[in-house]
Amino acid sequence: MSLPTLDGSLHRGCGGRYASHTEQVTVRLSGMATDVVRTLCRCEKCGHEQRTIDQREEAEKAAAMQIRAVHGLLAPREIRQLRESLGLTVAQLADLCYGTPKGIVEGWEKGRYLQNREADALLRSLTDPAELQRRAARVGVTLPVPAEATAPQAAAASVPDPVPDPVPAAHAAG
Ligand SMILES: [Zn+2]
Repeated sequence: MSLPTLDGSLHRGCGGRYASHTEQVTVRLSGMATDVVRTLCRCEKCGHEQRTIDQREEAEKAAAMQIRAVHGLLAPREIRQLRESLGLTVAQLADLCYGTPKGIVEGWEKGRYLQNREADALLRSLTDPAELQRRAARVGVTLPVPAEATAPQAAAASVPDPVPDPVPAAHAAG
């Protein structure tokens, strides 16, 4: 890995040098927890510790992966595929998920956020057409018309509108 590190850098406070260490930390995400090994730098002279943002993010990413594996949660890629297969926009999927903010759903798809178990179960339930229809009706999301259903409609639309019956002259006059 090419993460920037403070390894070997000077601790101005005491004149000592930082060296890389690892520590086991418990990371909690979306109500689930897991232990990961995180890298930190510790001053060898005074024991001062520093953790870079990259080191924190790396640990969070590792935690998300472990939690996903343990709880069998959908991967970011799978969530995007599921949404695209249903022809939904991110905003629509967000509405279907109890009005979850759109940015959160985007975060699920990018792996920036981890969906909790309830949200994961809900996402999976949307692959059932009946459940999808029910939920869409409840939250007011207009579902895209499936490809196989558009064909007959398109054919019907090409039939010219019936010409309205002319008003009989007799009635118009009387
Ligand atoms: Zn120091």
